Amino acid sequence: MKKNNNLLEIPNINSKDAKFKDLIYDVDDYLFNENNSSMKGFQHLCVCSGGTTSSCAKNGLTTLDLRKNYNKIHLDLESNSVTIGGGVIMGDLINHLQKNNRSFPIGLSKLPGAGYILTGGVSPLSRTYGLAIDNIESIKCFLGNGTFISLKKNQINPEKQLIWEAIKGAAPFFSIVTEIELKTIQSNPIKVIEGFVNLNELSEIIQLSEKFPENISLQWIYAQKIYIYVFAELKKNLEDKITEEYLMPLDKFPALEKKIHESFNKITFFPKELNLYELNPNNHSEVISLLGEDLKNDIPIFIKCLNEIMDNKPNNSCYVASQQLGCKTKKLNHGSSFFVHRKSTWKPWIYASWEKHDLHEKKVVMEWMYNSWNKLKSFYPNIHLAQLHNHLNSHEEELTLAFGNRINELKTLKKIFDPQGILPPL
Ligand SMILES: Cc1cc2nc3c(=O)[nH]c(=O)nc-3n(C[C@H](O)[C@H](O)[C@H](O)COP(=O)(O)OP(=O)(O)OC[C@H]3O[C@@H](n4cnc5c(N)ncnc54)[C@H](O)[C@@H]3O)c2cc1C
Repeated sequence: MKKNNNLLEIPNINSKDAKFKDLIYDVDDYLFNENNSSMKGFQHLCVCSGGTTSSCAKNGLTTLDLRKNYNKIHLDLESNSVTIGGGVIMGDLINHLQKNNRSFPIGLSKLPGAGYILTGGVSPLSRTYGLAIDNIESIKCFLGNGTFISLKKNQINPEKQLIWEAIKGAAPFFSIVTEIELKTIQSNPIKVIEGFVNLNELSEIIQLSEKFPENISLQWIYAQKIYIYVFAELKKNLEDKITEEYLMPLDKFPALEKKIHESFNKITFFPKELNLYELNPNNHSEVISLLGEDLKNDIPIFIKCLNEIMDNKPNNSCYVASQQLGCKTKKLNHGSSFFVHRKSTWKPWIYASWEKHDLHEKKVVMEWMYNSWNKLKSFYPNIHLAQLHNHLNSHEEELTLAFGNRINELKTLKKIFDPQGILPPL
């Protein structure tokens, strides 16, 4: 097993700044060996794929960085399925697929790695193609007890069924995934309608969006101002006429611009004008992701609540945003998974960020994040566990709200397959 004490060059600044104990690159027998000196006295192993979260490196803990040795991408041109290593980032995946006019429902950023897929994966394309986990064809992983397993959809024997379901949504707690095979999709043109709107306009647009067909989705972000993206996949058939009918009411918002992109693979979300602090090296941050159903008649009180949250925002780097799921993500025909809140149609997230050495600001900002979460709970009662927060006091509540009535099954799996607690705690 190779070791290296260099800095970890990753997008998440909290993790980048962490004084980790050891950096390792391979998953081999030694990792699971009780005499392994780099794991002695450890609390748990941090796993890094895209390195976009605050949990992939921590002070005093060892990080397994999958980016170096688990970074292969292979597209099978016959089956159109793509096999990726557990350390592949979504940007590299879609750049590879673009060469063959294929695509994959990645999220709003190209930076996240396999963690995006394993924690669910909500894409602007999810309403048509499901969550990222719904497109998993097969998987190779090491369980926390060192057992290597290889699982293929529709060929799962009954004793592996629960592992297969838990891999889809809760893999990080009991496994290290080294390879994932995914279904790809035809790359179609995308129409994006985007621009700044005010709160009243956002309210109207949310109302319109809750009636959108599956090929259209809304995403909005409220940072200093509100920016929206209405995203429509065009399939060059009758659907496109219907799409235009749904998009027509947006013509009345003067600041919105329309653009046709040749492919989803080529779209970059979040324009520079938003001045997002996500990659600012002077800031640390935490993100919490929620889930809930259509707002329907509650849109006006939600907008009032959002206004209050933004009025209390402690600094310019914090924001609230939301993306739309629903339609195909509601269907269980992809097979059961540990993404249990299938009724959800909105995934808002709260981004809390502070100047990294300012502990007072951190306290104020985290309080704002928790207060805002509390306010939003009546609209979005559940959690999308896209970020592991075992270093925060909210971890237990987040687990309960993320896994619902499957939490005990997950705890049982953890006990059996990660008995030494090598992987992030539940
Ligand atoms: C700018 C930005 C935009 C985003 N947009 C979206 C979006 O549109 N939709 C959405 O659903 N999410 C979105 N996310 C959230 C993101 O997908 C999750 O936070 C995801 O967990 C990040 O994965 P990662 O591999 O980059 O992170 P890392 O920090 O590398 O990993 C996060 C955790 O996942 C686990 N993990 C990662 N890889 C493996 C593996 N191979 N085996 C076992 N465990 C593993 C580890 O426990 C690790 O601690 C976004 C995040 C960012 C920063």
